[in-house]
Amino acid sequence: MAELILFCLRLMRNTRRIILLLPLLTLPVLPAGEARAKNVILFLADGGGIPTVNAASLHGYGKPQALYVQQMPYIGLSDTSSASNWVTDSAAGMTAIVTGQKTNNGVISQSAAAVRGRRDGETLKTILEYAEERGLSTGVLTDRPISDATPAACYAHNNDRSKQGEIFLQILKPRFGDGPDLVVGLGRGVVEKQTAALGMDIWPELAAKGYQRVTSPESCRGAQPRAARLVALFESEEFKLAEWVDCALTVLSRNPKGFFLMVELDTHLGEARKSLEAMIELDRIVRRTAERMKGADTLILFTADHSYDLHLPRSGVPGEDIVPLMKLAGHHNAEEVLVAAEGPGAERVRGFIPNTWLFQIMMSAYGWK
Ligand SMILES: [Zn+2]
Repeated sequence: MAELILFCLRLMRNTRRIILLLPLLTLPVLPAGEARAKNVILFLADGGGIPTVNAASLHGYGKPQALYVQQMPYIGLSDTSSASNWVTDSAAGMTAIVTGQKTNNGVISQSAAAVRGRRDGETLKTILEYAEERGLSTGVLTDRPISDATPAACYAHNNDRSKQGEIFLQILKPRFGDGPDLVVGLGRGVVEKQTAALGMDIWPELAAKGYQRVTSPESCRGAQPRAARLVALFESEEFKLAEWVDCALTVLSRNPKGFFLMVELDTHLGEARKSLEAMIELDRIVRRTAERMKGADTLILFTADHSYDLHLPRSGVPGEDIVPLMKLAGHHNAEEVLVAAEGPGAERVRGFIPNTWLFQIMMSAYGWK
């Protein structure tokens, strides 16, 4: 009898636990009959915290909440802490977003068992790799070096973000599919130098893997349907990100299975005016992209990997230039960042969420477990 009572008590306890866990298990999963995204576009404002979003609106439009990302229908607030620190760097921040796992600062898409520069953690599968595995087209587009932490976390795995040669070479040895189809960014010199130090001449290797080297976004229009795998690396920051986004949408949209595209723009530039103008530029790109992709089953996400100490502390008045009033301490910080979304699956963006949920939100939007 005592045994039976004990058994019943244990059953009740476990049932309660299962009931408590249920909402956690069901939240990111796709309810039956819900529209799925064919394409996902992830816009990443590097260092673009809410104070920067707010000030960009005041600077660009002379009024609050005038940015497109401030008018998107679904918003949430994402925690950005890493496994090793309340304040993340871009490596751990982007790893969380594209793999759903928090890791240590400095680590590129490996688990928190990694010790920077000394020991590998488990390799974490990224949303780009899931897309490649399923035959979608993929692209990585940045105004930072292509081997830098944010873009690297999409296509590479390394215990140290500074190993930029090793990181870039992983484009040539993809774990799934044929690797990113569109690779556009800065850092040509760094990439050439660091890969040469590893005994590799990247340009013939890239050509052998079917990449066409291009220098102008015009060339996207001429690229052959489905065969188009493009690489464009630059030295100067003068290239126009908006034109390359147009190019990417043209090329990637040719795949009937859909695509994944990550677009990064650096919005923590050590100078208030430059940072705000970068945010305004990225916002314009998000608006144009949303207009162009309307009706094309595309989940559009805007977020930041972390915030940055750029604030408007003093009382500006309407009509006044806010740039001289901005206070710039120039550090990453631990505060939550905006997530804004529209398109199929966007309704999952709400409330306070961990940055790792962005991965779940993208996977669920595609209808993948
Ligand atoms: Zn960053």
